[in-house]
Amino acid sequence: MLVVMNDSATKREIKRVSKLIKKMGGKIHPISDETAVSMGITGDESTLKADEISRMPGVRNVNDIRKPYKLGSREMKSKDTVIKVGKVNIGGKRLTIIAGSCAVETVEGTNEGGRLLQMLGADLLRGGAFKPRTSPYSFQGLGERGLEILADARELIDIPVVSEAVDTESFNVVEKYVDIIQIGARNMQNFSLLKRAGKSYRPILLKRGISATISEFLLAAEYIMVGGNYNVILCERGIRTFNDYTRFTLDISSIPELKKLTHLPVIVDPSHASGRRDLIIPLSKASIAAGADGLMIEVHPDPEKALSDGYQSITFEHFSELMRELRLIAKAVGRIL
Ligand code: PEP
Ligand code: MN
Repeated sequence: MLVVMNDSATKREIKRVSKLIKKMGGKIHPISDETAVSMGITGDESTLKADEISRMPGVRNVNDIRKPYKLGSREMKSKDTVIKVGKVNIGGKRLTIIAGSCAVETVEGTNEGGRLLQMLGADLLRGGAFKPRTSPYSFQGLGERGLEILADARELIDIPVVSEAVDTESFNVVEKYVDIIQIGARNMQNFSLLKRAGKSYRPILLKRGISATISEFLLAAEYIMVGGNYNVILCERGIRTFNDYTRFTLDISSIPELKKLTHLPVIVDPSHASGRRDLIIPLSKASIAAGADGLMIEVHPDPEKALSDGYQSITFEHFSELMRELRLIAKAVGRIL
């Protein structure tokens, strides 16, 4: 439920309401939506008595949130959440571009690639160190060494970095090195990982599972938020359908739907969605036109030689062309790039 206090509510009144909610077994989540103090309350609904709370001095109203996901819903918070990572804002009017290779490969490639991508307009640098590969025989990533390379690039270039954690063990390591922690599609419903992410001080980039419904996706985000980490970025990265000309199918309609249902930022990964570099520009343009807050793109200096996902990685020239074309779309839909 959502408890909104009167503008004139005193600190003492707020404290008394908080105390009552805790006594009822509720957990309080501060909501920064308006000037009035708002509290999102989660917990056992049978013990949380809305009418009793609403009778407390200083309370303006108590709203029941009927959606299965609570903290992520627009009912809880109507304004878009903007997540700050250094100088980068994710979720505002300005679009966020995350770019980099699928996996961290070399020091030179990461540093030079990062510098070039930043020059061309990337806000964040990506690179996997712990890779969830379909085949156990494929390159699994450099592990902690990959994170060191990425963190060094961040210092050298002054760009925030993103990398994936595949389990709670790697989460503890990734958390030390990067600015945003990715939870991949295959782990969207790894509940112990989601709970660990809920305790993190880092923003989480949560990718949609390949067969997850919108509701399941939002409930996965809810696992992170209910733990106390409200900085969740949702990423549509394609779902499994019967079509076999692309790796997955980019669910374009999920973008306006998610934007309607949740205040969390929504970005799109056309690279994994399509698995085809020739589709990156059109899918990126479509995503921004549909209301996405940003993109995550795999870029590699020599895609044919990439240790993972080369067939969907684009070159720097191709990335530069993408940015040029995106500026036109961004302008047309009132966004800044
Ligand atoms: C990735 O971003 O490299 C990745 C493995 O993505 P996904 O979890 O969407 O497959
Ligand atoms: Mn990849």
